[in-house]
Amino acid sequence: MSKQSRFMAFCLRNGESATISNSSGTACPCWNWRGSGYSPEYHRLYPASANCNGTGLVSSSTAQTNVKAFFYPLGMVGTKIPEDIKTVIGETVEGDLIMYGTANTSTAALVDISALEEQEDYIAYNSKNYKVRKVYDMPHGTGQVAILVRK
Ligand SMILES: [Zn+2]
Repeated sequence: MSKQSRFMAFCLRNGESATISNSSGTACPCWNWRGSGYSPEYHRLYPASANCNGTGLVSSSTAQTNVKAFFYPLGMVGTKIPEDIKTVIGETVEGDLIMYGTANTSTAALVDISALEEQEDYIAYNSKNYKVRKVYDMPHGTGQVAILVRK
C-alpha cells in the first residue's frame, strides 16, 4: 500500500465531510477573440453568438464530489506559517482554514484540488463555502494541503 493510499484511507476513516464544486464548460468564443480573456466587445459585435454572461464559459456544468479531509483554523497555525507562504496567501482572516486531504468518498482516490479555479469553484464544509487560495503537495505525494478562504 502506497503512502498516498494509506493517507487516503486515514482521511476516509477520520476526516470530516466536504463537497467540492468544480465548474467546467466550453470556452466562450469571446475568450480567444483577441487573446485577452473575456470580451464584452465581442458580444456587442456578435449578438447572435453564444453569450457567456461574463463567465468565459458557455454550456457550463458543475460537478460535485464528496470528499473527506482534515480542517483546521488557519489562525491556529498562523505563527508557524513561513513568510514566503504568507506572501502568497495574503492577509488571512478569522474563519479561513487549512485543509489536509483530500479523499474521494466514492473511489478512495486522491482528489487533485490544484486545478480548482478560485473564481468559480469552491469547497463546501460545515455549511460554509470556501475558495481554494493555494495548494501544496504533501511530502512523498501523500496528499495535498490547501489554504481555504471564505467565499
Ligand atoms: Zn463570452
